[in-house]
Amino acid sequence: MDQDLISREALIEAVFDHCVSMSVCLSKEEYDGMKRMRDAIMDDIENAPKVEREEAEWKTVILGGSMTHDGHEHREECSACHKKNESKTRYCPNCGKHMRNAEV
Ligand SMILES: [Zn+2]
Repeated sequence: MDQDLISREALIEAVFDHCVSMSVCLSKEEYDGMKRMRDAIMDDIENAPKVEREEAEWKTVILGGSMTHDGHEHREECSACHKKNESKTRYCPNCGKHMRNAEV
């Protein structure tokens, strides 16, 4: 599985919201069981290991006289996977690395 980055805070909030919405239709016994399950899931989320964010940067590549369809003579290229891109986006659309010199 890819080591994608997610928001730990958003995940905890989502689990909590699901439990709150479920709790209205549970018996006391079911509610206690659900609460124990919720607490165990919350602990797992809070203790899950961090993954270091992989970074790369956009490098300008001269296209050697040929122009792109929008009239540019250069493109940006990911330093990690070398996929060309028209703008310096925050993440490489090909390999997903966070780009240090993003402009959009
Ligand atoms: Zn890339």
